[in-house]
Amino acid sequence: MTPMQTYDLVLTGGHVIDPSQSLDGQYDVAIRDGKIAAIAAELPLHITKATHSVAGQIVCPGFIDLHVHVYEWVTDFGLWPDDVGVNAGVTTVVDQGSCGPLTFLGFQANIVRPAQTDVRCFPSVNLAGALKGGMGTPALHSPDMVDLAALLKLARENPETVRGFKVHGESGALSRWGTQVIELARQAADAAQLPLYVHTGELFAVVEENRPAPDQVIDYVLPHLKSGDLLAHCYSCRPDGLMGDRSDPSPALVAAIQAGVRLDLGHGINFSFAIARRMMAQGLLPYTISSDVHGDFATPHNDATLDYSLCGALSKLVALGMDLKAAIAAVTLHPATVLQAEKDLGTLKVGTPADITILAKTDAPWICRDAQGESLIAPQKFIPAWVVKSGQLLQPHRRLLRDLVMAS
Ligand SMILES: [Zn+2]
Repeated sequence: MTPMQTYDLVLTGGHVIDPSQSLDGQYDVAIRDGKIAAIAAELPLHITKATHSVAGQIVCPGFIDLHVHVYEWVTDFGLWPDDVGVNAGVTTVVDQGSCGPLTFLGFQANIVRPAQTDVRCFPSVNLAGALKGGMGTPALHSPDMVDLAALLKLARENPETVRGFKVHGESGALSRWGTQVIELARQAADAAQLPLYVHTGELFAVVEENRPAPDQVIDYVLPHLKSGDLLAHCYSCRPDGLMGDRSDPSPALVAAIQAGVRLDLGHGINFSFAIARRMMAQGLLPYTISSDVHGDFATPHNDATLDYSLCGALSKLVALGMDLKAAIAAVTLHPATVLQAEKDLGTLKVGTPADITILAKTDAPWICRDAQGESLIAPQKFIPAWVVKSGQLLQPHRRLLRDLVMAS
């Protein structure tokens, strides 16, 4: 007779959606020593220290937010990672560009280590990182600030945390330096064998006499991208974004996606339902859904203006017609693949770290908004009810889920 299994925690009666194992149904999830120990429609008789009913709720692998800004105090628009991480239903966050080779050690000591949330990063290709919200000091991002040897050293010495590099592909940077910074970023990514995460949509102050035609901006950027790289803010309202004023996406964009370049939502302050509808109608869906949560650009260290979140972004994309399972893959399996960490993250496979997001689904219609103020009546919303981080059950405080908790 096999001995009875003992567990630390068993989540019972939840509806499990785990795209990494094609699971979609009612399962119990057992956790032991911070890892997933068993998952079954009915667990054999066992002993457990704690049982927690999640009946009526959706149990997913821990959500991964591929685009956040969490280098508090060193950048003026960074947020505390646990506020937008475990306390927002997200077990792993990926900071996009806040640190660079010269500021990484502070990021590691003051953010990565003390946070309960798993924090990874795509450092900026410039030495210092994006210190100012809205990139107020373009000189920081000039080609002179890129040190390829320093980037390669950073990636080699910190393989757990450094999972790619961040660069900007928009009008302001192009008007100042052409594609020089993107070319350097390409070299850094190739040397480190990591993906590039490319911001799209006007951001830096543009040198007007050199302003590129908005609908050509993406065509300057795409030749420097490869399979596995990501285009951020895929549904941006900006005229120099991926769609701009076009009715159809540029053939170069379609070809790049077919060649393996990935789209990321990066909700942020430019997300447009109108652009999303136009691109979704052409089959252009985000490979990953991320939030781009950050503080206010105009006032230092101020999160009072933040009115979007990862679970809010997921709810909005489902309201726009994205399949729920596909949306959950876009915050679990897909970002784990981007991080080349799919053995440990974005899955509920037995033996992996027990990072779990548990959603409450409300079926009352609510009004959600894009960043332009356009509203949409969504039939349901998905609010994080519980989180398991490294085996520990937590109730998120949801202070920064203003889009979901306060919306009616
Ligand atoms: Zn961002």
